[in-house]
Amino acid sequence: MSRTGSLLITGANGGIGLETVRQLVHMENGPQHIFACCEELDNIKDLQQIQDSSQDCLIHIIKLDVTDIDVIHKVRDQVQSIVKGNGLNTLINNAGINTHRNFDDLTAETMLLEYNVMVVGTMLMIKAFLPLIKTAAERSTIKGMAWNKAAILNTSSKFGSISLNRGIHMSYAASKAALNHLTTSVSIHVKDFGILCTVLHPGWVKTNMGGQDAPVDVEDSVKGLLEVYRKLDIEATGRFIDFQGIEIPW
Ligand code: NDP
Repeated sequence: MSRTGSLLITGANGGIGLETVRQLVHMENGPQHIFACCEELDNIKDLQQIQDSSQDCLIHIIKLDVTDIDVIHKVRDQVQSIVKGNGLNTLINNAGINTHRNFDDLTAETMLLEYNVMVVGTMLMIKAFLPLIKTAAERSTIKGMAWNKAAILNTSSKFGSISLNRGIHMSYAASKAALNHLTTSVSIHVKDFGILCTVLHPGWVKTNMGGQDAPVDVEDSVKGLLEVYRKLDIEATGRFIDFQGIEIPW
């Protein structure tokens, strides 16, 4: 079967975002259009290589800072002009930042920085792209809820779980907890439109953020996430799930 549909991912220049684009390009029946959004376009060599070697999947590399509402709206219009009446099937909010602050060294600035990217930025993206995702939900012939029909997939962290709290990465964890709450609210808001909305933990992954001591390779994290995405249905909406499909307590 040929590729259909479209997917937008933020933070696509490195780490989990970049690897997600790489694996989506090779996925059977993966999206036809991938909008790979990067905060800056000065360090995108790896992404460009994937774009150059991609055969039947169109990768659109786009500059997008998730905290800049004007840029978000411009990108939304650009995406709309490409997908036209088909809408956007999948929005992956992957961009994140971890200042690694704890009680003694956290400041208002670092707390607001993390909150702004991961909570405000995610919400701005969802609000801007929801009309396109609604269109995708209406146009799709897929029954029920599915990640490749109409979905908002937010990238959280186990650190955002209050019941598993270990008291570290304090301000990052607080932002991810807020993101988790926001995801459940959005999932309720979009459920009647047939849109899936879920929050995922990628594992502790070897990336710039996760560091080299992390036990999970980025290839395995993303392989697991994509397998989980494929199984998401109405039962999974509003849930907190890791890259192995295990539900995480709030
Ligand atoms: P990286 O630091 O490698 O990637 C983070 C990405 O987010 C980068 O592409 C970064 O761009 C981008 N980004 C940061 N701020 C903005 C912004 N304002 N606008 C747009 N993009 C932005 O980390 P990971 O790949 O590991 O993290 C991806 C996601 O997974 C994050 O949400 C993270 O919290 C989550 N996560 C990661 C874990 C891990 O162990 N690695 C564990 C649990 C969750 P730039 O390169 O320009 O800074």
